[in-house]
Amino acid sequence: MVLFAHSCPACDAADAELQAGCEANPSPGRRGFLAAVVAGVGVLAAPPAVAQVWGGRARALGIRRLQTGENFSGVYWRDGRYDRTALDRLNWVMRDPGMAEATPMDPRLFDILATVQDRVGSDEPWLVTSGYRAPETNASRARESRRVSRVSFHMSGMAADVQLPGRSSVGLARSAAEMQLGGVGVYRNSGFIHLDCGPTRRW
Ligand SMILES: [Zn+2]
Repeated sequence: MVLFAHSCPACDAADAELQAGCEANPSPGRRGFLAAVVAGVGVLAAPPAVAQVWGGRARALGIRRLQTGENFSGVYWRDGRYDRTALDRLNWVMRDPGMAEATPMDPRLFDILATVQDRVGSDEPWLVTSGYRAPETNASRARESRRVSRVSFHMSGMAADVQLPGRSSVGLARSAAEMQLGGVGVYRNSGFIHLDCGPTRRW
């Protein structure tokens, strides 16, 4: 099995810059997300563009994890709510490949992935090189490279680094940025883009 040593120092740096002002509250996104999960998954508000694209249609998503070959393809949201069984499967595929258990992702990330996939009219699954990143994984990478930050939306279950077969990273990033769904980073050399459900920004 080939393990992809992809890193996204640029998105880590951008995340760090964004969260630098939150030292007293080091992980506001995660904290708010967990509170929302406790209150019920359906309470999270997706970006307005998500509802504009989907309307009342069931939301479907296809992803494949490069490191494990595991995939998900199907509906994860219907009749106004997220499907918990589908979220469990998505969380498993998006887990840190070094971990034997899944961590809940912020489901708004799945809305972003599904909406971009739908908007560009692709039937191909997203190829995921990085989803949830465990603090241990991030710490070891930070030791290897000074450019990897200690904080990252990946560690909050709010980010993914992805590629869509047959589509350029620049074109995908442009489509995602136009919809103002969250954070968008482009990696021209690797062909991957970083998407997160943090504040709308681009790099
Ligand atoms: Zn990233």
